[in-house]
Amino acid sequence: MKRIVILGGGTGGIITLNRLHQKLRHDSGEKNTEIILIEPSERHYYQPGFLFVPLGLMEPWETYRPVSTLIPEGVKWIREKATLIDPDNRVVKTSEKEIKYDYLIISTGSHLDYDSIPGLKEHTHNFYSFESTMRFKKALNEFKGGDIVIGVAGVPYKCPPAPIEMTLMLADYFKRAGLSDKVNIRYIYPLPRVFPIESVAELLAPIMEERGIETNLMFNLEGLDPEKREIYSLEGETVKYDLAIIIPPHKGAQVIIDSGLGDRSGWIPTDRHTLNMKGYDDVYVIGDATDLPVSKAGSVADFQAEVVTSRILSDIEGYTPMARYNGRVMCFVVTGLGEGTTIVFDYDNPPKPNPPNFACYWLKLMYNKLYWTLTAKSILPGVIV
Ligand SMILES: Cc1cc2nc3c(=O)[nH]c(=O)nc-3n(C[C@H](O)[C@H](O)[C@H](O)COP(=O)(O)OP(=O)(O)OC[C@H]3O[C@@H](n4cnc5c(N)ncnc54)[C@H](O)[C@@H]3O)c2cc1C
Repeated sequence: MKRIVILGGGTGGIITLNRLHQKLRHDSGEKNTEIILIEPSERHYYQPGFLFVPLGLMEPWETYRPVSTLIPEGVKWIREKATLIDPDNRVVKTSEKEIKYDYLIISTGSHLDYDSIPGLKEHTHNFYSFESTMRFKKALNEFKGGDIVIGVAGVPYKCPPAPIEMTLMLADYFKRAGLSDKVNIRYIYPLPRVFPIESVAELLAPIMEERGIETNLMFNLEGLDPEKREIYSLEGETVKYDLAIIIPPHKGAQVIIDSGLGDRSGWIPTDRHTLNMKGYDDVYVIGDATDLPVSKAGSVADFQAEVVTSRILSDIEGYTPMARYNGRVMCFVVTGLGEGTTIVFDYDNPPKPNPPNFACYWLKLMYNKLYWTLTAKSILPGVIV
């Protein structure tokens, strides 16, 4: 009997779980393989939905489902938080148990690091967790005009397009509400262009300009003064705000840091093709937890789930694992209320985005509903997020 342990039941973990289960069922290997999920949360969140909830385009309840509804029969769920991973002894520990494994898949995600900038949690908003999204939605409903500062406090952060998507949708939102004259939107970003990838930045910068959005590039957020309502950059700039929407710096999961498996920020050194945690053939890393030079995105976790599933099952069957991850990323980029585009790229091929159109926007809204079946249950694996 081989035991596969999946650590983390977010996007990457749940997709991999369902993919593994489907393949084992079809290949009749189920009886010789045990799958265990370790995940403390009762809810599985579809985080892309957080982008749409503040604007009233999705209901809060549409962004989550009970984890129990996404786990196939026969998979064991340990509803506990892992406290330590010991890859030399092939064991994961929780406060209650020690779980031995033959294969470990780490999908513990990325997490908001509020502590690195004092005042960020109390005095700014964001839409990167369910709680902060709900707080931001309320603030937006109460906002009657003034200076909005929206931006990113540190790289890497998950879903690189999300801050620009929110910026562009907000501009349209205020236009529709007849408040454009009363609202100034300023986008602050730590890089010298509006998006990390040049070809995408070249598409988005003129759209932002056309919507009247001001930008402060190379703005590395150092701190803020909630009394004066000012945000400061390391470069010496000051911007004033009435409503600040700031994506906090990200870090790896605490268990990765506590186990000494990550780099300074808690990202796990990962082989770019095999997805093995470096130095361990029986440990795989997928999704946001890796240190790979690709976007931290659900689509990445989806593509990687396919590779990891294939490699583990080949190994169990006695074949040499051949599947390799090629750095594939696929993202919708919503460029306003009613338009969007897609970006697709990999390690060797940068994206060539098409001009925004209504069909992509509509597809994204459709996909928000289809995630629960197509992706989470791995009905259409590795295709779209
Ligand atoms: C606003 C927003 C919009 C986005 N839009 C898109 C988009 O359009 N397209 C796209 O592809 N991606 C998008 N993303 C990114 C996407 O949601 C993430 O990249 C994806 O969820 C990463 O999957 P993951 O499995 O690595 O991590 P997660 O889905 O975050 O799951 C991590 C899981 O690990 C668990 N965990 C953590 N620590 C432990 C522990 N000690 N023990 C056990 N379990 C633990 C957590 O409880 C969690 O369930 C968006 C994200 C946000 C916030």
